[in-house]
Amino acid sequence: MILHGIGASEGIGIGKAVCIREQNLDYSSVKYGGRDAEKERLKKASKKFSEKTSRMAEHIKKQVGQKESEILTGQIMMLSDPFMTEQINDAIDSGLCAEAAVDQVCGMYAQMFAGVDNEMMRQRAADVKDIKNRMLSILLGVSEVDISELPVGTVLIAKELTPSMTVGLKKENVAGIITETGGITSHSAILARAMEVPAVLSVHGASEQIKDGDSLITDGKEGTVFVNPDERTLGEYIKKQELFLKEKSLLAIYKNKPTVDAEGSIFNLYANIGSAEEAKAAAASGAEGIGLFRTEFLYMDRTGVPSETEQYEVYKAVSDAMPEKEIIIRTLDVGGDKAVSYLGMEKEENPFLGHRAIRYCLDRPELFKIQLRALLRAAAEHENIKIMLPLVTSVEEIRQARALLEKCKGELKKEGVPYFDGIKLGIMVETPAAALTADILAGESDFFSIGTNDLTQYTMAVDRGNPKVEKLYTVFSPAVLRSIRSIITAAKEARIPVGMCGEAAADPKLIPLLMTWGLDEFSVSSSRVLATRAEIHKWRKAEALKVTKEAMSLSTATGIEGYLESAVKSR
Ligand code: PEP
Ligand code: MG
Repeated sequence: MILHGIGASEGIGIGKAVCIREQNLDYSSVKYGGRDAEKERLKKASKKFSEKTSRMAEHIKKQVGQKESEILTGQIMMLSDPFMTEQINDAIDSGLCAEAAVDQVCGMYAQMFAGVDNEMMRQRAADVKDIKNRMLSILLGVSEVDISELPVGTVLIAKELTPSMTVGLKKENVAGIITETGGITSHSAILARAMEVPAVLSVHGASEQIKDGDSLITDGKEGTVFVNPDERTLGEYIKKQELFLKEKSLLAIYKNKPTVDAEGSIFNLYANIGSAEEAKAAAASGAEGIGLFRTEFLYMDRTGVPSETEQYEVYKAVSDAMPEKEIIIRTLDVGGDKAVSYLGMEKEENPFLGHRAIRYCLDRPELFKIQLRALLRAAAEHENIKIMLPLVTSVEEIRQARALLEKCKGELKKEGVPYFDGIKLGIMVETPAAALTADILAGESDFFSIGTNDLTQYTMAVDRGNPKVEKLYTVFSPAVLRSIRSIITAAKEARIPVGMCGEAAADPKLIPLLMTWGLDEFSVSSSRVLATRAEIHKWRKAEALKVTKEAMSLSTATGIEGYLESAVKSR
């Protein structure tokens, strides 16, 4: 059987299916077995919970760090607290089965903690909810897949792979990823590329058609999935996989070369990252800096806001990984498809148009200041960190953020804590409002970075993760291309640097246009650094200009993309 979807992360993944299904925690059909039997079930489930959670804590301690593992050990302590155990046992005495007793008592605690206006307490609420769900799944015997302990050669199948799930993956063991939703710029896709795991997204009906243990081939370029392929197909794809890996290794000759066009003009080639570990990989991949650190990933896969010290340590580690290079760190960009449960964000009708990114941060100055202070401090030694604001739509947002930054500087000065006074503050240009007022925003920004993922979504009024409107989601639309051109022009006129950190920066078809318009910096995932450098090497200015003129004279996205495809191939 062959299934089709969107090729979201290149490469051929061959392995066995592990399906992540939504858990059904409905216990309405469980019959009360009497006090003693229910208490015994509770005791056994609590024991299993503690054993499982300690194993997870041990794993996280090794993979992530001591502090993160303490969240889990804290959960064990919470559940074994005598007062809580007594309350659950009392509920059983009153005639509830173990499931209902756990649900009732944990629910009561979660509500109590969530009602307190204190970040720490809200973290507790998320912890208790987590305990409740995991206890219910143990009691009901619903098996959960532990994605941090997948066997080698796993092809993961999920309805949706949330960014926090992806963060917990052990990438060495994952041969491929298949989901039923998500597009080329959804965050699962971005993470899959960062991990260099082949991924096919938006495969309709994948979780019904694929069973655990099925043998699978994932072609992350073409967007195809072969389920239980025959020997011939398997042989063919093993060869394709070898070829892909060989081509990748050939790019190694570009590793220590500068990023220049065929005439020697220099461009900056940076990497996009989501963690301090990735900064090391980016440096090793030959990137000349970091063009985008998506800090929201630091806030995920945990139950509370990372403290100033924790954030400082991460930003400092990134700064240390490339002390001589520029590091652009984006402030918290939550909302949209990036949910962080403990932040207490409300469910919205239109999350991509809602209370997200800079809007959310400016409304929670105490939370925002933790990050700004950590950034100012981390920049003190190498002075190589720049701060970037996401989803800006007006100059007031920049002013407010700058005022808050100044306030943080004042506080640090008073406290005698070292910080970098000259830190630059730039913005992502990723909304039509910012693009149309780029000349005004350039007057108050130290730099621009074009976020084509969102810019395309908002310019075309098309959800970047919705497969039904996927055809409309294209950076080659004349509307998006004109927008990019005018943003670069505005930056040039204001003499501020302009980069691009959206996924389009790694598309070879756009390179002649971006070079011609004067983009200063390309920021791509680490896995695309060398391929992008190799593409830039191919172009002379006059040829790039000719191709750009021709492309911009065309009136349809398919026409432009088709033309650019053949122009790039003929190089
Ligand atoms: C973008 O929108 O292009 C971007 C780089 O940011 P993100 O993908 O994190 O929204
Ligand atoms: Mg964006």
